[in-house]
Amino acid sequence: MDTGDYKHLLLAVDFENESEPVIARTQQLRKFFGARLTLLHVVEHVPPAMEYLPLGYSDNVSMPVDLELEEELMALARRQLEALGQRLDVPVGDCLLRVGPTGPVIDETAAEVSADLVVVGSHGRHGLMGLFGSTARSVLRDLGCDVLCVKIERGGVD
Ligand code: AMP
Repeated sequence: MDTGDYKHLLLAVDFENESEPVIARTQQLRKFFGARLTLLHVVEHVPPAMEYLPLGYSDNVSMPVDLELEEELMALARRQLEALGQRLDVPVGDCLLRVGPTGPVIDETAAEVSADLVVVGSHGRHGLMGLFGSTARSVLRDLGCDVLCVKIERGGVD
């Protein structure tokens, strides 16, 4: 079993201010291990505008996503991701933007780039119960490599 240094960290980022401690911890580890860092932001599919759905069908009909809105979100996310990449000195090629369900996409990307440590924040804001937030739990469910859940304090940082 290889228990050597971490060589490639994958940081899942959501651009929330409260994620700064997650970024700081990742930078600490990156420096300590001299590891490569890949940044990943996932844009979830945009749900269709509910007012355009026929009455009574909203629960059952699968509508195509609003492509323009999704393109706008992608462009905005790309700008935020590249700004973060610049701040952290991560090359553009290691700033990945993906579309899909956040947890599974984090897992897939970790396997794709052969990351040996995935870093996510965890505050349980969306979780009904349990120690981890929903994204962290989803990543842990399909564990392909080590995962570090950095605790995010409620209310975030100043
Ligand atoms: P949660 O408690 O489910 O809000 O998860 C918080 C953590 O999940 C964040 O600190 C990020 O590490 C990760 N995360 C949440 N949303 C995204 C996203 N859209 N793209 C990448 N990572 C995300």
